[in-house]
Amino acid sequence: MLVDPRAPASVLAVVAHPDDAEFSAGGTIARWTSNGTRASLCICTNGDKGSNDPGISSAELARLREQEERAAASVLGIDEVIFLGHPDGTLQPTLELRRDIVRVIRQLRPEAVICPDPLRRYGATYVNHPDHRAVGEAALDAIYPSARDPLVFPELARAGLEPHKVLRVFVSNPLDPSCLVDIGETLERKIDALRQHRSQVSEERLREFLPQRAAEVGAPAGLAYAEGFQLITLS
Ligand SMILES: [Zn+2]
Repeated sequence: MLVDPRAPASVLAVVAHPDDAEFSAGGTIARWTSNGTRASLCICTNGDKGSNDPGISSAELARLREQEERAAASVLGIDEVIFLGHPDGTLQPTLELRRDIVRVIRQLRPEAVICPDPLRRYGATYVNHPDHRAVGEAALDAIYPSARDPLVFPELARAGLEPHKVLRVFVSNPLDPSCLVDIGETLERKIDALRQHRSQVSEERLREFLPQRAAEVGAPAGLAYAEGFQLITLS
């Protein structure tokens, strides 16, 4: 098990919804940005279905969640947040989604990408949101080979977006992590970032669930709190 891999010079997190990056990798992103990593975030939907409140419209919810995400990103030291605006709740790993992610990768040219695990179908107490799996699949396909190969999506090259090779992929929340990032010093920032998502998370859940989960992930390596990834090193 690799503990605390070298922080990348730049990282792009590609996720489905506002709050996903904070839940899956908020402590890691905060740790890396504190050490000078340039971080950006690409959110594939606007999260406009994520509410049980019958009094809020999808448009209002999308506006609210964008504000919440910008506040959370600021807590984690993320420089740039890009919303792709795909449908929330019914996302599919289409070529259109893949092309949009390739566009962002070629624009921002990150050394590393964080994305969800498309293989994570369910756990003992939950079913993984299908949008998370869809983004995981589209993001991995975007990283390899589409962002790297100039003849894929030639319209992007014609628009001046040169191919880009991502060197490391951190697949978040995998079934079997190959690498852990110690978030003992940044757990509070992760919680504070998630606290900005007022429409989504209760203080009680933040205080109980988050430290408990981070402790479970860290335990095999003797860390008080950690986030786990499957690390893919591309050459
Ligand atoms: Zn989500």
